[in-house]
Amino acid sequence: METVKDVFNNFREALNGLYDPHETEAITLTVLTEMLDTSKAHIKAFPEKELDAANTHELSRILSELQTGKPLQYVLGETEFYGLKFKVNPAVLIPRLETEELVEWILGSVAGLEVSGSGGEVKILDIGTGSGCIAISLKKYLHVADVSAMDISPAALATAKANAVLNEVEVHFMEDDILNPAFKMDALGVDEDQSKFSIIVSNPPYVTLEDKLQMHTNVTDFEPHTALFVPEHDPLIFYRAIAEFANENLAANGLLFFEINESYGEQTVDLLKQNNFINIELKKDMSGRDRMIKAILNI
Ligand code: GLN
Repeated sequence: METVKDVFNNFREALNGLYDPHETEAITLTVLTEMLDTSKAHIKAFPEKELDAANTHELSRILSELQTGKPLQYVLGETEFYGLKFKVNPAVLIPRLETEELVEWILGSVAGLEVSGSGGEVKILDIGTGSGCIAISLKKYLHVADVSAMDISPAALATAKANAVLNEVEVHFMEDDILNPAFKMDALGVDEDQSKFSIIVSNPPYVTLEDKLQMHTNVTDFEPHTALFVPEHDPLIFYRAIAEFANENLAANGLLFFEINESYGEQTVDLLKQNNFINIELKKDMSGRDRMIKAILNI
């Protein structure tokens, strides 16, 4: 019979070279915790615990997928974001820790929000929603908010919709391309008064070809390129399009939040200045890199 300890040893050996030993340990712990539906502390406390044949069989499937370099979250088909569970697959980017920081910033900013023209309720749009992690977390923690989310990818939207069901929240999803939007407020069908958004948020593709060279093949071989890489070698293409879109669809004094490429912080700030935004704040992530922006629409 295979024990928990054997599993750690097998994973360490099989994934050697692919991950650092501490990463492999964390991966193994997550796999066992999910599979045995228990806590990490419990797994660590009982290394001699024996696994049944079905678990052993499933573990060998997981291990062989991991050996191809496939990220753990895709292998398990799920991940956690802001304390919530999300289904993930190669049609969507795996939610990142930095993006949790962005959500935290938004949640903290909503309390002091005073927007005109938004009909008194907090109305949020997430552009390029992917797995839906931003939109769904915001809806979950801001019950009263009216949340909409768009994405160009039907497969991503299907995943986001499944995640809204999983987390028991209602989000209005739309398929659209922000670089060429056919978007109309009335397409949402959520408001008779056509009120504008009080918050627009986006974590658009921001990885440049230069950055790509530094990236791990775990990311570049498996995650969706349309969600990661900027088209037309223009690192600000989405930020420009969204800033312009926000000028039409964000309420006066409404907030715009972006996750950004750390190398383009100042340029993104300048772009927003040129597009009627004020009080622009650039914030670093936990690694000390310029990672997010908050700005107020001044029209
Ligand atoms: N932060 C992600 C990464 O480095 C990129 C996310 C994005 O392009 N929006 O993989």
